[in-house]
Amino acid sequence: MGFTIAIDGPAAAGKGTVSRAVAARFGFAHLDTGLLYRATGRRTLDGTDPVEAAQSLQAQDLEADDLRGPDVTQAASRVAAIPEVRQALVDFQRAFARRAGGAVLDGRDIGTVICPEAEVKLFVTASDEIRAERRWRELRDKGFEDSYGEVLNDLRARDTRDSARAAAPMKPADDAVTLDTSRMSIDEAIAAAIEMIAARRDA
Ligand code: C5P
Repeated sequence: MGFTIAIDGPAAAGKGTVSRAVAARFGFAHLDTGLLYRATGRRTLDGTDPVEAAQSLQAQDLEADDLRGPDVTQAASRVAAIPEVRQALVDFQRAFARRAGGAVLDGRDIGTVICPEAEVKLFVTASDEIRAERRWRELRDKGFEDSYGEVLNDLRARDTRDSARAAAPMKPADDAVTLDTSRMSIDEAIAAAIEMIAARRDA
């Protein structure tokens, strides 16, 4: 039987780490849906049309090792505002969500658009400053030299674009539980998410 966990939220709130840990704990498959938009955005950097890039996306495109850099990140958020790009990626995400063994999907519109019927919906968030600091450290560890201020500005620009767009804007589903990780360690955030999901699963 399928069991879908939808985890949405803004950049660097911890949803990727929480999603991976939740999937491991329950033995579910995990899809980081941001990778679909990143891989699409990356292909547009060499001039490919965004809709064509999304329609012809291949599994190996999701494995490129440069999907996390600042240019690809902003390109992802730009292509994500195009309704035809989003449409091209819907079927793959929905099929993944209904896998027999259970699935965790993380993104921006999973609980609202992709899987409105998900058994559990979480909206993982944190303050702008804390998210920027986490992302800045991550980028620094990967060798990028962006300053904290640049990271904070980029993150705010991306959040604004992601939540203001007409097509599937980022927002919590009406029935989502919000998890604010601003004052939590990653282990605390994971434990809180697992507790909520276990309670829903046993209900
Ligand atoms: O989650 P991540 O930061 O990797 O996502 C990159 C970009 O992809 C986001 O800023 C957003 O514009 C887009 N995205 C989206 N819907 C999703 C996942 C990501 O629009 N479900």
